[in-house]
Amino acid sequence: DGRLTVDDLVAWMLRFDERISAEAEHLTELDSAIGDADHGTNIARGTGAVRRRLEEAPPGDAGAVLKSSGMALVSTVGGASGSLYGTLFLEMAKSVGPATELDAAVLAEAFRAGVAGVVARGRAEPGDKTMVDALQPAADTLSAATAEGHPLAESLRAAADAAALGRDATIPLVARKGRASYLGDRSAEHLDPGATSAAILVQSLADARSE
Ligand code: ADP
Ligand code: MG
Ligand code: MG
Repeated sequence: DGRLTVDDLVAWMLRFDERISAEAEHLTELDSAIGDADHGTNIARGTGAVRRRLEEAPPGDAGAVLKSSGMALVSTVGGASGSLYGTLFLEMAKSVGPATELDAAVLAEAFRAGVAGVVARGRAEPGDKTMVDALQPAADTLSAATAEGHPLAESLRAAADAAALGRDATIPLVARKGRASYLGDRSAEHLDPGATSAAILVQSLADARSE
């Protein structure tokens, strides 16, 4: 029950930009503890570019929204997170193609493909203290909830909750990928910045659908 329209996808990206702008300072603070203090500025630059691109040239189908967003992220973010988030959206775009409405199963499959793309590109597995710790449980939860026939809005809320739990579970972990891994054991007892922005990404989707 329920479908995601092109407008819903645009609303997702605008909401993502809004939340990232509000949280940019916090994200950079998290990255200053275990990275190079730029995650908030990196990702906010990217979501701002996505917003401008969607406003200037509103895409006509779901694949185009996702592709345009992914391209904007890849070309403006820089840093490890730019190509990874870019891959997430570009793989989702390929998965949905020129559809103008996505039902829950199509969305769940696209998100699963996007996260698989992130894993293939960055080679991080759950437990490595990266954005994958938030994204993978969200993808798994969305697929399971959809397969069980739950309404889309409810499945998206469950996915957002799973992402938040995955984010929080990064605190005790020792980083095995990305800059934080250079710190070895000293990366433990810190929240991962990329898992934090990824949880915002999934929450933004749940919010966009319930508005
Ligand atoms: P950089 O580390 O290049 O400065 P950012 O600060 O923007 O890039 O992003 C850092 C975040 O990227 C990390 O917190 C982590 O979640 C994520 N990340 C880094 N490397 C990987 C990887 N190989 N796979 C998945 N996520 C990664
Ligand atoms: Mg950084
Ligand atoms: Mg950097």
